[in-house]
Amino acid sequence: MAKGTPSITCDNLTAVQLMELDACTRCGECVKWCPTYDASGQEPGLAPRDKILRWREFMNKSYGLRARLFGPKEISDEEIDLFKTDVYSCTTCGMCGTVCESGINTIELWECMRANLVERGNGPYGKQNMFLKLITEYHNPYMMDPKARLDWVPPDVTIADKAEYLYFGGCTAEYRQKKLAFATARVLNKLGIDFCMLGEDEWCCCSALIRTGQHEKEEIARRAARANVEAIKKTGATKILYACAGCYRTSIVDWPRLLGEELPFEIIHIAEFLEDLIKQDKIKWEASVDKTVTYHDPCHLGRHVGIYDPPRYVLDNIPGVKFIEMDRIKENQRCCGAGGGVKAGIPDLALGVAETRVQDALKKNPDILSSACPFCKRNLSDGRDSLGAKELEVEDIIVLVAEALGIPLDDCVET
Ligand code: SF4
Ligand code: SF4
Repeated sequence: MAKGTPSITCDNLTAVQLMELDACTRCGECVKWCPTYDASGQEPGLAPRDKILRWREFMNKSYGLRARLFGPKEISDEEIDLFKTDVYSCTTCGMCGTVCESGINTIELWECMRANLVERGNGPYGKQNMFLKLITEYHNPYMMDPKARLDWVPPDVTIADKAEYLYFGGCTAEYRQKKLAFATARVLNKLGIDFCMLGEDEWCCCSALIRTGQHEKEEIARRAARANVEAIKKTGATKILYACAGCYRTSIVDWPRLLGEELPFEIIHIAEFLEDLIKQDKIKWEASVDKTVTYHDPCHLGRHVGIYDPPRYVLDNIPGVKFIEMDRIKENQRCCGAGGGVKAGIPDLALGVAETRVQDALKKNPDILSSACPFCKRNLSDGRDSLGAKELEVEDIIVLVAEALGIPLDDCVET
């Protein structure tokens, strides 16, 4: 860094965010709730308060009164490296912002700090740096052939060429957790809902890139959002269905922000859609799911966008389901540990958080720990396996809906 040049920039922070840095009163409420701080064995650097105070100090060294009078004070590479590890050891779950009495929007603050580090060549973290290359080349993060997006579709599933509804499958359901795609498509078919899909025109929603601060790199997230929006417009669909909480959050919050425009279609999570159909008495159940089920709110569906009740309504209405709550739910839910790129970048930390969340569920002794997001399902399953809690089933709510509609899914092979 040339002498006289600030070590960090403040270009990507809004005036509100700069004020938020000053608004932290050091009360420590956020520290009590942070799942990664907890799972790390209460490593001080991971505490949300500590990260805010350190960034505030970085800003002061670079732009404070002393910096203006005598020139910016250098921030050592060691300090930046340590900060990088701590700021990426965060699932961007938003729990800290929920309890913050100063009302700091921590999710956006963490993402801006990460983008800042990416810009100066320090971020992202570990394997997260593969996202950009893979999404640019394959339009998905799994190095899969874009033309194979719909290879999962079984012969009995009907996908329309044009329809009012479009199912945005998402990379994870289409290439990895295919049971989620099978269940969603078969449920829609069974309910007589015509839907189309984008197939090879679908790009990754870019959630992982945005959460890890890489979205401005080569404008990839903006290009992907534009490609998806234009492809959806071409189909004529006006109602877009999502069974992945990550894709849903990214489409409804990030795409309009990246593109600087309102989306010309409605974004609907499958839980909201099913809740409406149940209320209109349009679902005829065919089987009973005689299980005790609890529900884990995905951060991307819950705290990030405020959808808490529809999945509970659906579960409560499935015949035979005895629905029970864990102690920490809705806005106070404990994160599964997979988000914010932590699963890819710091898998041990992701597993530690998942184990704690599975223990939350085990306290209530359910048969099934359900969620509405493939990343939660994957990480909670890993946590369950690592705890050896074989008796606990981890499943998506749409799979339980399929079962109650008498839809078989045993022909689905996950890869
Ligand atoms: S967003 Fe979640 S993981 Fe990140 S610092 Fe806040 S509480 Fe901790
Ligand atoms: S809860 Fe808010 S004000 Fe209190 S220490 Fe955390 S970030 Fe600062």
